[in-house]
Amino acid sequence: MPDLSDVIIIGGGNAALCAALAARETGASVLVIEAAPEAERGGNSRFTAGAMRVSYNGVEDLARLMPDLTDEEKANTDFGSYPEDQFYDDLCRVTQYRTNPKLAETLVSRSFDTMLWMRSRGVRFAPIYGRQAFKVEGRFKFWGGLTVEAWGGGPGLVDSLYTIAQRAGIEIRYGSRVLDLIVDDNGVRGVAIRVGGRTTVIEARAVVLASGGFEANAEWRTRYLGPGWDLAKVRGTRFNTGDGIRMALDAGAMPYGNWSGCHAVGWDRNAPEFGDLDVGDGFQKHSYPFGIMVNGRGRRFVDEGADFRNYTYAKYGRAILEQPGQFAWQVFDRKVAHLLRDEYRIKRVTKVSAATLEELAGKLEDVDAQGFLAEVGAYNAAVQTDVAFNPNIKDGRCTRGLALEKSNWANPIDTPPFEAYAVTCGITFTFGGLRIDDDGAVINTDGVPIRGLYAAGELVGGLFYFNYPGGTGLMSGSVFGRIAGNSAGLLVKG
Ligand SMILES: Cc1cc2nc3c(=O)[nH]c(=O)nc-3n(C[C@H](O)[C@H](O)[C@H](O)COP(=O)(O)OP(=O)(O)OC[C@H]3O[C@@H](n4cnc5c(N)ncnc54)[C@H](O)[C@@H]3O)c2cc1C
Repeated sequence: MPDLSDVIIIGGGNAALCAALAARETGASVLVIEAAPEAERGGNSRFTAGAMRVSYNGVEDLARLMPDLTDEEKANTDFGSYPEDQFYDDLCRVTQYRTNPKLAETLVSRSFDTMLWMRSRGVRFAPIYGRQAFKVEGRFKFWGGLTVEAWGGGPGLVDSLYTIAQRAGIEIRYGSRVLDLIVDDNGVRGVAIRVGGRTTVIEARAVVLASGGFEANAEWRTRYLGPGWDLAKVRGTRFNTGDGIRMALDAGAMPYGNWSGCHAVGWDRNAPEFGDLDVGDGFQKHSYPFGIMVNGRGRRFVDEGADFRNYTYAKYGRAILEQPGQFAWQVFDRKVAHLLRDEYRIKRVTKVSAATLEELAGKLEDVDAQGFLAEVGAYNAAVQTDVAFNPNIKDGRCTRGLALEKSNWANPIDTPPFEAYAVTCGITFTFGGLRIDDDGAVINTDGVPIRGLYAAGELVGGLFYFNYPGGTGLMSGSVFGRIAGNSAGLLVKG
């Protein structure tokens, strides 16, 4: 008997599992094919903190997503709101108005409803107190449009999705890399997979591609992102090598989106080549808005306070990659030490500290000490200390008179002990991929959907250009995964 499923989902991360659940809800039989062995299942989704950007109109909406919110939490926290038009504006602004308006609108307008659906299926959420809210005058205040995370972070999200999928009767095969789509003039017929060195074919009536971008493929990175990208460290899974994109292009799909763009951040200079599940996202260093970043010449090279970190971190990895030696040091003093995120306190961190700036300059490996001291001196003198410092808002406490100003949260670096952290570029995921229609169907180069082929998650192009608002990757996987899975199921069962 041939191996046959109604719907095959390629990949085993958040987008894949949301697609699988939605397809199964239509009554279709569903098979999830995950390249990673079970111990490494879950793709990049598992490496995340589980932060999800969702639009909401106030604490009542949040209470629907998080029924566990206590009265005390509600009383002691300013959750604010994140209306749809603000989410949409943020997405448009950071992508320099390149985002496809239709995709963006779908993402934004379906975000709350999709999270409610996930919640109804058994996924739990919690407020991101640790990373997205600072306590000022006894009250937490959320900032940056990012308020909700999955319970247990990325590992919690992935584990709960797998449990729910298995309970729903969805079959999962691990350690199985999909090599090719089986396609004829009538559309997709199935896939060829390799398991333990053997290639077999599984037939299906619809296929959802949810196998991530090409961030873990050094050759494709160099080919599409440009020279030097082979030198980036990969923050997450080693399995996202662009297979789904390649297979779809071979089947006639249209390349779409920002193929030369990606999400990349400051990441510990000595982190391993690929992500380490024991550390998760801990190698990232996201508190730079409260200090300065210098390169090997000791010079600053970005406006560290241009915006909330949620709107700059994803493009600053590229800025670091472009520095000599592809590294930078983030420098802080005691005044802001309490604001540093927990990732600054992990064991595997490349850190130096010193009692004086001169001593620190001597400890910054590969940095011109004189250049650094001159840079800090000029920076300290330029800080407008008459403006009050406030980490919860864009406080306008800036520098004046520098060739490269700092726009917010500027503090003179003058209070020991001084601390510095070495970072390089860590790539998160690539922005270029496939074009989909309103049903999540993959569009071919003639602009026509390829029958039976759907896509969701990182490999969908057209949403992100140059930059990205934090927490949108998981949301996009959930929204478009649900749409693609539903359409695939309806094609078979409808
Ligand atoms: C360290 C880190 C932290 C992050 N933090 C956040 C965050 O807090 N919030 C947020 O929104 N986003 C975050 N992101 C981005 C987020 O992880 C992604 O945008 C999102 O998880 C993508 O989901 P996906 O399902 O498309 O891909 P993935 O979760 O990467 O899943 C792709 C799957 O495809 C499988 N696969 C690949 N090739 C094949 C093949 N040939 N055959 C079968 N299977 C295959 C892989 O094994 C994997 O399981 C973070 C990413 C990283 C790396």
